[in-house]
Amino acid sequence: MRFRDRLARFFYGRYGADQLYYALFILYLVLWAILLFVPYSPIRIVLSLLQTLVLVYMIFRVFSRNIYARQKENQAFLKLYEPIRGFFKLTKNKFRDRKTHRYKKCTHCKAVLRLPIRKGEHPVICPRCKQRFIVKIRF
Ligand SMILES: [Zn+2]
Repeated sequence: MRFRDRLARFFYGRYGADQLYYALFILYLVLWAILLFVPYSPIRIVLSLLQTLVLVYMIFRVFSRNIYARQKENQAFLKLYEPIRGFFKLTKNKFRDRKTHRYKKCTHCKAVLRLPIRKGEHPVICPRCKQRFIVKIRF
């Protein structure tokens, strides 16, 4: 069997990379960067051990044949990560639109609405829950 075929056969049915894999990779790099500044001490040993565990776990997940279990891990990770990502995305958008729009929460369903700046109180109909409420835009 040629090397390429053997390689393809080896990777067939294995899980590969996902969002959790990339997050672990970033964690690995962050630990690596921190370790550059930590002198030899018990803390350094703990961090090095943690870094090694992250790497072993990454490799284990990529080559795992238990795809169902790896998908479940990734889903659990995304459940934690999505709210964090959402917060940063909203903050970024608030800043980007700061001169033209304001972001207000629907008082009924907590959906975030992007409203053009019109100073004063205005009635708004939420596009998600169709409820009417008043928003105040002061500046
Ligand atoms: Zn609503």
